[in-house]
Amino acid sequence: MNEKIQEIIKRDICESYNSNILRKFIDTGLEEIRACINCGTCTGSCPSGRRTALRTRSVIKKALDGDDSVLKDIDIWLCSTCYYCYERCPRNILVTDMVIKLRNIAVEKGYILEKHFNLAYNVFFKTCHAISAKGENNKKWRELRESYKLPSLPPTVHSYPEAVKECQTLMKEVKFKKLLDQIKKKIKK
Ligand code: SF4
Ligand code: SF4
Repeated sequence: MNEKIQEIIKRDICESYNSNILRKFIDTGLEEIRACINCGTCTGSCPSGRRTALRTRSVIKKALDGDDSVLKDIDIWLCSTCYYCYERCPRNILVTDMVIKLRNIAVEKGYILEKHFNLAYNVFFKTCHAISAKGENNKKWRELRESYKLPSLPPTVHSYPEAVKECQTLMKEVKFKKLLDQIKKKIKK
């Protein structure tokens, strides 16, 4: 959105929204969610919502109201992070970032889909790749890279396996591993 339009659309913040969820948004610099006017443009623009139950406006409203049920709601995982809602929001709100933040809060509270947890715990932490380019099943991707005259493996830990330990140290430092361990314990109960 250009600067002139941004000037015209003055983003008054509604101070009365002050839930626990909202405070987490504010702490990470996403206070503008309080400027939402509940117009529904985000929902109307959402390609995912055309095929699923995701209603972006409703997700944002629940976050504003501090309705914790939004954290358990599978809808927040149906966003494809396409950024249409952000481009069209008349209040210039970073809607997509809000949805991602809601997912972060949900996982902090232990609400995570089993497949996502398995991917994070059994694949990402161990290999530092969410999707591997190695192995017989992924041969076609390596060949595709080669057809574009790229090295068959990307310049990631695949090419620098010694960096795996560094990535794992990083994940421990930011307490990602601790979070996964806590969730694993909850799942076992
Ligand atoms: S488009 Fe923007 S202002 Fe409208 S409901 Fe969605 S987030 Fe709120
Ligand atoms: S970023 Fe997510 S919520 Fe926004 S329009 Fe795309 S799929 Fe819908």
